[in-house]
Amino acid sequence: MKNSMSRRQFILAAGALAGSAVLAGCGGSSTSSSSTSTSTDSSSSSASASDDSYTLVKDGTLTVVAELGFAPFEYMNDQTGDPEGFDVDVINAVAEKMGLQCEYLPNQKFDTLVPLIKQGGKADVSIAAITITDVREESVDFSEPYLDSNQAIVAIKGSTETEATLNDASKQVVCQGGTTGNDWITENLPNATCVPVDDVTAALTGVQTGLYNAMVVDLPVAKYMLTNSFSDLDIIEEIATGEQYGIAISKDNPNLTKAVNKALEDMKSDGTMDSIETKWFGSTI
Ligand code: GLN
Repeated sequence: MKNSMSRRQFILAAGALAGSAVLAGCGGSSTSSSSTSTSTDSSSSSASASDDSYTLVKDGTLTVVAELGFAPFEYMNDQTGDPEGFDVDVINAVAEKMGLQCEYLPNQKFDTLVPLIKQGGKADVSIAAITITDVREESVDFSEPYLDSNQAIVAIKGSTETEATLNDASKQVVCQGGTTGNDWITENLPNATCVPVDDVTAALTGVQTGLYNAMVVDLPVAKYMLTNSFSDLDIIEEIATGEQYGIAISKDNPNLTKAVNKALEDMKSDGTMDSIETKWFGSTI
């Protein structure tokens, strides 16, 4: 009786925290402190004694790694020094649902994220607008998809470039290295000179200054960056790749993937996901 009362109180407290702090910044101070693996009725209050248990790099904390130059999904707020964005809100809410704090590691290059999760020991999850692909699924597990996406070709306003004219050895088409945009160029513009770089802002600046003829990048990022920082660039073509973003988790930690999926499912049914979509995209997607 005493035990079940205290567990019930814990669940209520965890629920109250999740409700009140759903959009709190990741990496900031969080009030959750539980490290139990789940709050379902059948679970034990001890992670080690539960079949649902998972491992964490740091007890009580969901440690996140990302490439933090991909607005509106993840970027550094220069004022606060904290990461912000759609993905940051999503993973922060996931951590809240799991009764965990959430901490970001320093910025990493995009093409190191999947290898880093595969290798283990540094971060529990990577959320970085990562498209679920067969190749990546050989290295890591993914959560259920949390957002649909496509690609865009970006060029200077007034440009006469098309997919056909870009497919020429004299054309420099930039992308972020190791991305699905990089793959798309290799497959669909085999004659163009594909230039993979680390940083999206540098790539777009290069399109602006004429260093590159075009960039291929995720459509929501193109839309956001062009509206907010690169008004002299245009989306010359939207490419319906039908991609879906997932959260990357080690194959050695299948119960963490299950717990993250449970949190995502709860966020879809209780309206948290809708409110995060509305916050960043003005409407649900
Ligand atoms: N969605 C793209 C991919 O997974 C780009 C992700 C990114 O640059 N953060 O390759």
